[in-house]
Amino acid sequence: MESLSSTLVSENIGLYLHVPFCKRRCTYCDFVSFTDFSQVKEYFEALWKEIELWSMFLPRIRVETIYVGGGSPSDVPFELLEKTLERIRDMFLIADDFEFTIEVNPNCEFVERLRFLDVNRVSIGLQAADDEVLKCVRRRHSVGDFFRTFETAKNFAKVNVDFIVGLPNESDRTIENDVHVVETLRPDHVSIYLLETHESEFETAISEVVENRYERFVEAVKEMGYDRYEISNFALNNSFCRHNLKYWRNQDYIGLGVAAGGHLGRIRYVNSPRLGEYISKLKEDDFVFDYFSRNDDLQELKETIFMGLRLSEGVNIEKLREIWWMFDPYELFHDLLGEFLEIEDGFLKLTERGFDLSARVLADVIDRVSLMAVGR
Ligand code: SF4
Repeated sequence: MESLSSTLVSENIGLYLHVPFCKRRCTYCDFVSFTDFSQVKEYFEALWKEIELWSMFLPRIRVETIYVGGGSPSDVPFELLEKTLERIRDMFLIADDFEFTIEVNPNCEFVERLRFLDVNRVSIGLQAADDEVLKCVRRRHSVGDFFRTFETAKNFAKVNVDFIVGLPNESDRTIENDVHVVETLRPDHVSIYLLETHESEFETAISEVVENRYERFVEAVKEMGYDRYEISNFALNNSFCRHNLKYWRNQDYIGLGVAAGGHLGRIRYVNSPRLGEYISKLKEDDFVFDYFSRNDDLQELKETIFMGLRLSEGVNIEKLREIWWMFDPYELFHDLLGEFLEIEDGFLKLTERGFDLSARVLADVIDRVSLMAVGR
């Protein structure tokens, strides 16, 4: 741990805070979140302790982005979030132009109060503009709630809207509604995720229908002028998510809270997903890593390529050669270049077709990088 500050790539970092509580579980959820709120206060006290520990190990860093995700940050007492931001301000230097994003479920009253926290980016989880779908997956809001929340948030913040394609009870009509929402509200940023199911033949057939819907939604959003700057993320007027760009560019960030992960130079860590363990270890002034490792060159190369190719800007080949000096994309990907991959101004990137088939292309790319290391 002593060597952490020397391993940083830069002194400008992102902070992710995980709020692992939801009043009710959605049927499709695989995030770490708990419906028992009896330990919420203790959890936040542990989180404040973790903030303090990191500030002691990394005293000179400057926080450029803060991202509060969950779980449902909008389900916990507002005062706890307020105090958390105070702690961050006390412990770290904050950049003047910092980006502060918080994820919310549609909830007007909560969002109205966010302006007092200096939040400047609100990410609203609509998921589907279809009340039947929302009810079926046990979301706790209606499409009407979303519209009211959006109107409140846009008064003081950039707004992202999250959609998921492939939820139960979805129909073509759902996607038409989703497209209509983006067309009429024109949020600064849109995220469109695909819920994947490949369990059986029946589900595979369904998944083709779902994939077609996904493609239609993506095409419609692009036609509205959105820049697909990442596989699942779309921005108007360069309103990119600066925090998430740190992940994709493999830059430095600290993850705080249960199950949160961080990346500092070559170090990767993930905190324990167990609430009790997280709280009790931090009471003893100790970190609570479930995984902590220093990437070797190959692992760092694979992660940098895998994350970087998710971006339309691609990944800087010089940066890859700093990790692995013999890296030669022309040789390694000779039969993928043109159709699925391209090299432009020193950047390796996916073509439009590569973007559409990204899961398969990325898997192939990473396999080849692994084999390259074996054959060296
Ligand atoms: S709101 Fe999000 S984190 Fe909470 S149960 Fe639903 S999907 Fe999971």
